[in-house]
Amino acid sequence: MKSFLKGTIVCLGLVIVLFSVASCSLLYKKFGGDFEGPPEEMNQNISPAAKELIKQAFQGFEGKKIVDIHSHIVGLGAGGTGVMINEEFNSWWHPYKRIQFKIYLSATGIEDVERADQEYIERLVRLIKASPEPMNVHILAFDKHYTKEGSVDLKRTEFYVPNQYVYDLSLKYPQIFTPVISVHPYKKGAVEELDKWGKSGVKFVKWLPNAMGMDPGDESLREYYLKMKEHDMVLLTHAGKEMAVEADRFQKLGNPLRLRLPLDLGVKVIIAHCASLGDGVDLDNSKTDKKSNFDLFLRMMDEEKYKGLLFGDISAMLQFNRLNGPVKKILARPDLHSRLINGSDYPLPGINFLIRTKELLKKGYINKEERAALNEIYSYNPLLFDFVLKRTLRHPETGQKLRAEAFTSPF
Ligand SMILES: [Zn+2]
Repeated sequence: MKSFLKGTIVCLGLVIVLFSVASCSLLYKKFGGDFEGPPEEMNQNISPAAKELIKQAFQGFEGKKIVDIHSHIVGLGAGGTGVMINEEFNSWWHPYKRIQFKIYLSATGIEDVERADQEYIERLVRLIKASPEPMNVHILAFDKHYTKEGSVDLKRTEFYVPNQYVYDLSLKYPQIFTPVISVHPYKKGAVEELDKWGKSGVKFVKWLPNAMGMDPGDESLREYYLKMKEHDMVLLTHAGKEMAVEADRFQKLGNPLRLRLPLDLGVKVIIAHCASLGDGVDLDNSKTDKKSNFDLFLRMMDEEKYKGLLFGDISAMLQFNRLNGPVKKILARPDLHSRLINGSDYPLPGINFLIRTKELLKKGYINKEERAALNEIYSYNPLLFDFVLKRTLRHPETGQKLRAEAFTSPF
């Protein structure tokens, strides 16, 4: 274990040196967005086998709209969008974050930072439209970090995407975008803000408690939850460990059991990534014993009273660091598939080193021919790649696949 850790640190050091010294766009490409050409050129250039895999992926929906419940809007605030990112991402004093930032940029296909926000949207729209059947993509606003007292903490804010921006985008592209607002419950006037969006017809609210600082189990949030229920709003919230957050006091906010409060009040909750990373205290039974967050999520999914209320999104579950347990367990539970919802976590599927088809092949989730076809699709359309991969994936022993109902909206 120790030598593994040492190895990781040395590796990370090496990567930082490589990127810092060379600042080489080829390296960013290798780790980030390793694309061959624009999405519109995919059909002329991919093999018959890749086309066949795409065709199969779209079968079984009987005219139902395919949904992507979890797709990020990012940017740099270009053109007055109001989007903000933490300045550490572009600082040489924070080499790891700077590299992360450059890899992200390369994965999103942004070339001109002066038009970053516009290019991001243009590319996302093109990726969606180049798919044989354009999906309904839920685009996420992202609120700042707030303290319990209601003041904003910009140092802890990783990025900020305003609700109005996301809402306006959904008006501009009503066929493909559904807005997901983000209202921090500790913010002054949070309930009124929810009410305003609820009256505008917005149905989804996004939280990332570990990064934003809210405790979903906080009793003072009752009024907020009841307002959500009044407008039949669904809470899409991250649970489990969050890689971008270091402090333990914030990691514990990702404990899925803290979501019992909104669920018991009758609020619909989607747990992002099915809480598939890290451990949380088993608050139902103990003050100290830890269990995997994913098992705590499954425990709640199995409770009769949460049927029709609790759901899980399958975004990011195929990243190399989550492949060992959760995916297999999810595949083995077709009885739960109608309560799973497809999510891409875009732009993450564009990041080459996060989703490794080699590992998926090695673990028996896909075969050699499928891997080759999937890699071809990735190099033109990472969003389509993510969908076709999830449709192709099978349980290594039983062959069970994710049912089609996990790709359409239950709401
Ligand atoms: Zn996400």
